[in-house]
Formats: sequence, C-alpha cells, structure tokens
Amino acid sequence: MLLDYNSLLLAVGFSAACLSLTLFGTWLTARSDRFLLTWAISVLVIVAEVFVYDAYIETPDTALGVLTLALLLLGFSVMLGAAHQFRTANSPLPRIVFSAGISFALALPPIALGYDGLGFMLENSLAAVILFATAYEYWKGRDEAPAPLTGVALLYSLTAASFVLCAAALAWDGKLVLGHAPSNWAEDLSLVIVIASMTGIGALSLALNQGRLARHHQREAQTDALTGLLNRRALFDLHGKAPVGAFVAVVVFDLDGFKAINDQFGHAAGDEVLKVFAQELAGNLRPNDVAARMGGEEFALVLKRTLPEMVESTAERIRTAFAARTIDTEAGKLKCTVSAGFAFGSSEGMSFDKVLSTADKALYAAKRGGRNRVHDFRRAG
Ligand code: GH3
Ligand code: MG
Ligand code: MG
Repeated sequence: MLLDYNSLLLAVGFSAACLSLTLFGTWLTARSDRFLLTWAISVLVIVAEVFVYDAYIETPDTALGVLTLALLLLGFSVMLGAAHQFRTANSPLPRIVFSAGISFALALPPIALGYDGLGFMLENSLAAVILFATAYEYWKGRDEAPAPLTGVALLYSLTAASFVLCAAALAWDGKLVLGHAPSNWAEDLSLVIVIASMTGIGALSLALNQGRLARHHQREAQTDALTGLLNRRALFDLHGKAPVGAFVAVVVFDLDGFKAINDQFGHAAGDEVLKVFAQELAGNLRPNDVAARMGGEEFALVLKRTLPEMVESTAERIRTAFAARTIDTEAGKLKCTVSAGFAFGSSEGMSFDKVLSTADKALYAAKRGGRNRVHDFRRAG
C-alpha cells in the first residue's frame, strides 16, 4: 500500500473530527435540528475509538481492546439513533440503548476473556448490522429527497458491507485468539471505504439539511403565525396569477366590531378571537378549498367548482357557527360575529384582484346592511 495502515487510520480520525465539528457548528446555527447534535456526538465517539484503536495496535492489551470495541459499537449505535431522529424527529435514545446494549452483551465478553479474534469477528458483524439498519432508516425516509437520501443509504450499506468483509476475513482465518489487532486485506479496504463514505455522507447530509431549512423558511414565509392559515402573500402566489373562471368563488370575511373587542378586552383577547375564527374557517372547508388571513381581522376563502348556493351555505355555516361560539379569553367570556361577501370569476376569466374587490364590495354591503350576515356580488352595488 502507498500509505501504511496507521497513517490511514489517523486520517480517518482527523476527517471524522472535522465532520463532527462541522455537524456541531451546523447544529448551533439551527438548534431545532437535534439530530445534528446526536450525529456530531456519534462521530466524536468514533474519533475517540480511532485513537484508542491506534493505541491498541501499538499495545494490544485487554483493557484497550474492550474499550475500542465498546466505543465503535456505541458510536455506530448513536449514529443509528441520529438517523432515526432525522427521519422521525423522535428521541434517538431507545434505539441507542437497544443497539448498544445488545452489541455490548455479545461482543465485549469474548474480548474481555481473551478471545480477541472472536471479539473482533463479532464487533465487525454487529457494526455491519447497525450500519445496515442506519442505511435502512435513510432509505425509509427517501421520499423527502430521493436522490441524496438513496445516496446516503447506499454509502452506509457500502460501509456495512466492508465490515462484513472484515468479519469474513477473520472467520476465514478461524483464530479465536489473535493477540494483536486484526491485519488483513479486508481491514485495509474497509478503512479506504470508510474514508470515502464518510466524506460522501457528510456532504450529502449537509446538503439535505440545507434543503430542509430552506423548505422550513418557505413554509414560514407563507404562513400566518397567529392562526396557522396561509397569509395574503401565499394566497396571491396560489391564485393571483391565473384568471378566475366562472365556477370559482372568493369569499371575504371581516369580524364585526373587532376594534371594540380589542379596546374592551385587550389585544391578547382579540388574538384569541382571531384564532377561534380561523378554526371555524378551517373546520368548514372541503379538501380543495383554500383559506387565508389577509391581514388584521380580514380573511378570505377560495372555493373551486362551486355554485352561488353552495358558497352562500358555506359562508352561512361559518357565520352561524362563529356567532354561536362563546369565546373564553383571559379577560373574560365574549361573543363576536362576522360579515362576509362573495363574488365569482367569469367564463372569460377575471383577474383575482377584480374578484377580490367585488367580494369586498359585497362585504361592505353586508356591513351596511347591519353586520353578522353574508352578501353576494349581485347585491354588492
Ligand atoms: P367593523 O365591524 O366595521 O368591521 O369594525 P371593526 O372594529 O371590526 O373594524 P376596524 O377596521 O375599525 O378595526 C379593526 C381592528 O382590528 C383594529 C386593529 O387594532 C385590530 N387588529 C388588527 N390586527 C390585529 C391583530 O393581529 N390582533 C388584534 N388583537 N387586533 C388586531
Ligand atoms: Mg377590517
Ligand atoms: Mg372588522
């Protein structure tokens, strides 16, 4: 080999240390992504293992042997936990405890009792199982980003396969007692594969994380923080560009006397009222209807493939349900009503702005007519 095993091993340790630092730094900037921390810790455990293993190559005593096996199996178990946490956002702990528990129980007693050959065979086999399980976690989650996640799953599988080879080489040798660190072609190959996969997995995973953050920010930019509905901008992104056809309706809602509620009960109580109305709105939709908060106490609904009677009854249902609610705020119980106006597009296609402003006119007609009612475009003028 061009490089001896020791230098390669130290190269693994060094690049793993860099990866761990990168993961830790990324976690610091995006605290919500806890799996990054779990993963950084797992890589750090592997770094420790590399240096202990390096010492074991020099001085193959039992204590160092037990420690190196324990660290490797623990590091990979934490890595499995991180993969599960990445996919499900659930705690990694059950998997870590289960995987480390079983692999310690199987691999540590033989090496502690002097059967180092058997210990390393078991260590390699168990590491392969844990790495295949890790690959499977990413594979199961591949819908999120098919190409990079399949890549990550493949690289973990490749690493797992290299550990299978290490176990096979030791089994072929058939020595239960070695007296030194395993040294064969499979070990050399495995080390090269580990370096290559670690680099690939690191790069792919950081790209994945970037993608997640970008999607998260996009969703945030489209959502109204108070009510969880779409905001005005998101509604215009969805419907603002294409002409509106004759069977598409826009309903605008505006809470009645809302300023007085704020004045009497306080702004926090007003916010509660807005949330309750948003619930009524969202709770009365068909799957393809779109609800948005346009700002302040104004909301809009876009209904597709619909007719005036259906729009009227939907808006009425929301109005009566809201009027019937007694809203329990910190400042006391209160009641509120809502007015609504609606309008349709046209068979030639009407601009979304135009439909919205026609619906607004109907809304103001409802306000003039005494509030707590629904008006349609024909009565808008
Ligand atoms: P009308 O029946 O004619 O609609 O009267 P109104 O009092 O509901 O309408 P107006 O436009 O006079 O007042 C709307 C109030 O909504 C004024 C503003 O302080 C309040 N508001 C706007 N955004 C928010 C918000 O996010 N939270 C709370 N609590 N109040 C808000
Ligand atoms: Mg208003
Ligand atoms: Mg109002």
